[in-house]
Amino acid sequence: MSKTWRPATQLVHGGTLRSQYGETSEAIYLTQGFVYDTSEAAEARFKGETDGFIYARYGSPTNDMFEKRMCALEGAEDARATASGMAAVTAAILCQLKSGDHIVAARALFGSCRWVVETLAPKYGIDFTLIDGRDLANWEKAITPKTKVFFLESPTNPTLEVIDIAGVAKLANQVGAKVVVDNVFATPLFQKPLELGAHIVVYSATKHIDGQGRCLGGVVLSDKEWIDENLHDYFRHTGPAMSPFNAWTLLKGIETLPLRVKQQTQNAAKIADFLAEQGKVAKVIYPGRKDHPQADIIAKQMTGGSTLVAFELKGGKEAAFALQNALDIVKISNNLGDSKSLITHPATTTHKNLTDEARAELGISPGTVRLSAGIEDTDDLIEDFARALSKVSA
Ligand SMILES: *Cc1c(COP(=O)(O)O)cnc(C)c1O
Repeated sequence: MSKTWRPATQLVHGGTLRSQYGETSEAIYLTQGFVYDTSEAAEARFKGETDGFIYARYGSPTNDMFEKRMCALEGAEDARATASGMAAVTAAILCQLKSGDHIVAARALFGSCRWVVETLAPKYGIDFTLIDGRDLANWEKAITPKTKVFFLESPTNPTLEVIDIAGVAKLANQVGAKVVVDNVFATPLFQKPLELGAHIVVYSATKHIDGQGRCLGGVVLSDKEWIDENLHDYFRHTGPAMSPFNAWTLLKGIETLPLRVKQQTQNAAKIADFLAEQGKVAKVIYPGRKDHPQADIIAKQMTGGSTLVAFELKGGKEAAFALQNALDIVKISNNLGDSKSLITHPATTTHKNLTDEARAELGISPGTVRLSAGIEDTDDLIEDFARALSKVSA
């Protein structure tokens, strides 16, 4: 494996471990355990004197390939693959905190991430402050002597706000806190949080990395020292490990990640431009457009737009439902990052548990709709939207 390979090459070849059979495609090692030639060999493995696997909850060959390939892409020293994105987020946060510590998090978080910060962490005596993460001054104000973790997602779900990752990392470094970035919406291709100064990156591999709607997965990436000191034991003993079958599915998915994300982004950008011209659409939020409220930060930290588009219909919930129901190619689903274009109405699905006030703070109105662009033909998608919009009463 070469460190100088560009992403498209890393994602096809990075981390490959070939067996004695020289298979072309990565092998799936569906095994729970491993055998040792001698008692002495087992003893040495357990002492860490020899390399090799011990038990699939700790690590296994197919998972190892997935972790190494993700490290190559992200520019991270080490990683752990988890059963889902939420297992990755929960592990990344809890493994480094103890009772009395404090988290500062941007309030615009994926619903379950917000639950981990607001509901789960306090049960173990971990305090938190939720802020509007767009303004760096809010991060600074929220710091207490107990602050150990800054947690954010950028762009955010569903309204695609962005947070200045380098700015947050600078503040965190001043107080010795660690920045955890949930980089799902940006994808590992368009944003490199570690290069921007973040300490830990997490993904739901369920999204673009699988990209074909098949399995759940997650990954936590960081430097070797942080993983050794924080995640290593937590991961071994609490058991959020990914199934080797899913690791294999994700390894195959990741080979085509750049091709899919390129087509998805192109579709998203064209649909965003089309929607912005429509009289029934009040506003379009797309990180690739010049009219994005934080276009300057996007230019600084992202190398591509997004596969997601948020937009607001003038006719509120009724218009949003009518549009979704009239779409033919685009399917109604709360998932994202898929080859298939998917659309959702956040106020009644992904963000239904928030109060009206909390939704308003996040910019989610009754007319807000989130599109995850797939890899279909661009013109077919635009025709689908044009036809569906014509059925929405003004
Ligand atoms: C989907 C998602 C998660 C959770 O991932 P799962 O694989 O569903 O557990 C976390 N953060 C973001 C931003 C997501 O989109």
